[in-house]
Amino acid sequence: MTERINHTFTAEYKINPYPGLFIVIEGLDGSGNSTQIECLRNYFTERFKYQKGGIQVIKEPTYGPAGASINWVLRRGLTIDDQTLQLMFIADRSDDLLNERTGIVKFLKTQGNVVLGDRYIASTPAFGNIAGLDKDWLLFIQSKFILPDYTFFLDVKPHICMERINKRNNGIDRFEKLEHLEKAYQGYGYIMRKIPDLMIGIDGERPISDITKDLISYIEKSPKLPGKLHF
Ligand code: ADP
Repeated sequence: MTERINHTFTAEYKINPYPGLFIVIEGLDGSGNSTQIECLRNYFTERFKYQKGGIQVIKEPTYGPAGASINWVLRRGLTIDDQTLQLMFIADRSDDLLNERTGIVKFLKTQGNVVLGDRYIASTPAFGNIAGLDKDWLLFIQSKFILPDYTFFLDVKPHICMERINKRNNGIDRFEKLEHLEKAYQGYGYIMRKIPDLMIGIDGERPISDITKDLISYIEKSPKLPGKLHF
């Protein structure tokens, strides 16, 4: 009787093939994700006169059926297996992408639409690393998800994130959390090395407006920007 059965899978990630622009910002808690998403929202609104309907901002977990379960588990502080929790995040992301009524893919099919995502594929292996989960497997099972046109990783060292979180939360936090941030940071580092084209590393320890300028310099190269498109 054999004790193992081996099988090798290969993954191929497809970059957003739709006319809408899909941008994601990855990073640790406190690295400035929400801040930069807001700056990019302002950029699209002011520079291209985007109305609310043309920009969709995604924050995970979502309010969809799978996201609602995650919120329910986290809010109540229920005991949940770490792998199961990460799979729930993946399920939430899958529905958020593919839901035929509200999904990102449907939205991206309209030229000129923009999706700004606060975390996406890489956050699962990165945060799963806190519990020592298999990062390659967590990346592999998401290989059917389209990749954004741009995924930026806001690189901010864990102790700086911690300082910012403490300031934001009026000093309430725990040492234990720094260890979590360090593990998640190592997780992001692993992904950057393993699939270098997945994310663009951005030095997130600079002033907010310098970072936004950097992001915009990449985004301005996109052929999908208004003005470069026929509306
Ligand atoms: P996240 O969404 O990644 O948790 P936030 O955008 O909420 O992070 O930022 C965390 C805190 O750090 C906020 O108080 C924010 O004002 C501050 N912050 C964000 N970006 C910077 C930056 N580049 N330099 C200094 N402080 C920042």
